[in-house]
Amino acid sequence: MMLKIKRVPTVVSNYQKEEGGDGGGNRSGGCGRNCLRSCCIQGAKLPLYAFKVESAAVEKELSMTRMKGTPVQFLDSLLLGEWEDRMQKGLFRYDVTACETKVIPGRYGFIAQLNEGRHLKKRPTEFRVDKVLQPFDGNKFNFTKVGQEEVLFQFEASEDGEAQFFPNAPIDVDNSPGVVAINVSPIEYGHVLLIPRILECLPQRIEGESFLLALHMAVEAGNPYFRLGYNSLGAFATINHLHFQAYYLASIFPIEKAPSRKISTLGSGVRISELLDYPVRGLVFEGGNSLLNLANAVSESCICLQDNNIPFNVLISDSGKRIFLLPQCYAEKQALGEVSTELLDTQVNPAVWEISGHMVLKRKEDYEGASEDNAWRLLAEVSLSEERFEEVKALVFEAISCASTIASGSPPDKTVESADKPGTANNDADKANQRSHPAVLPGSRECVVLQ
Ligand SMILES: [Zn+2]
Repeated sequence: MMLKIKRVPTVVSNYQKEEGGDGGGNRSGGCGRNCLRSCCIQGAKLPLYAFKVESAAVEKELSMTRMKGTPVQFLDSLLLGEWEDRMQKGLFRYDVTACETKVIPGRYGFIAQLNEGRHLKKRPTEFRVDKVLQPFDGNKFNFTKVGQEEVLFQFEASEDGEAQFFPNAPIDVDNSPGVVAINVSPIEYGHVLLIPRILECLPQRIEGESFLLALHMAVEAGNPYFRLGYNSLGAFATINHLHFQAYYLASIFPIEKAPSRKISTLGSGVRISELLDYPVRGLVFEGGNSLLNLANAVSESCICLQDNNIPFNVLISDSGKRIFLLPQCYAEKQALGEVSTELLDTQVNPAVWEISGHMVLKRKEDYEGASEDNAWRLLAEVSLSEERFEEVKALVFEAISCASTIASGSPPDKTVESADKPGTANNDADKANQRSHPAVLPGSRECVVLQ
């Protein structure tokens, strides 16, 4: 039942060493950290993986051939090769491969990991958790402050329509690249961060272009055990700088096993279902006439949640073919004192991985006593109530049906109130916060959780 991932030894690090690949930044000047800010970025070079963007017409055909399986996935090898290289260089805060992991007996096979060191050494959360959109603050930690040695490669759409790899490409400061960096506090093998347009310093917030980039990464990796995840602020994101997480886990996540019921198919062919018989209520997005259609349906839904100040998590699964969207209210309940001390004592932060069924536990007793019942009880606290979920679903459907009507050029047949909805996507964080709907927000009382 447990399938294995082949661990790839350093595939691309040899020429990196030959070409001075420990970042290649300006060693003589800069702030001394060889970071990604203006102090150190002049002349810096990093590997660049440029993925092929298919036109909508050929995309479907290609995804069919992809499913038959490509023998060697270059992105997999590159990512894991570079990741292992950083492990050998001792850049991680602990050895994640030494953490105990087990599958909990039961219907769903929740996965428990004992990770006692993670929370002690993690970068602290420094912002309020009751606002999903907050402006970027350059004084707080952000990914431009990491050392270039933590960055594995740049990840961008290819300019000439063919997938390409450049082992030593300059960083285009004026056209900020997406980069893949290690997570120095990994929870699994190959745990990385995808940081879209890193130098633009975008706040943690979904918008169409960067979500599409994340989806491209899932497709490009082409490995069902490689998933990407997103946590909004208020749903256990800990850094307010736009990023996705990703790692390999050679096991099916419980959420991927949960049954679902189809609710609707959009004009773009994207099917939306609702999870059934799973402790966290959520939506599932699949299909679509193109990858862009699928990305848009999800990102528009996320934008709707953001504009309504509803925290959420996203899991990109099945090599980009299936996406789970999970609004949640755990931090809010926590702030309002509505979570039992028994659950609080575990100090488990139910972010995207925990919600998907990979429970990262901090205490030995919780790991040893882990059961499907316990996992279920925790996740049930994360979920919106049935009534609230119905309200949120209605908001999301209003937003995406309206957005797709406008995109297709036909006149909006919805109410005047909702007709300007897609425009909110381009507002800044403060504006969006003003627009949140207090009427549908039971937690609109000011509350701050200091972690
Ligand atoms: Zn610097």
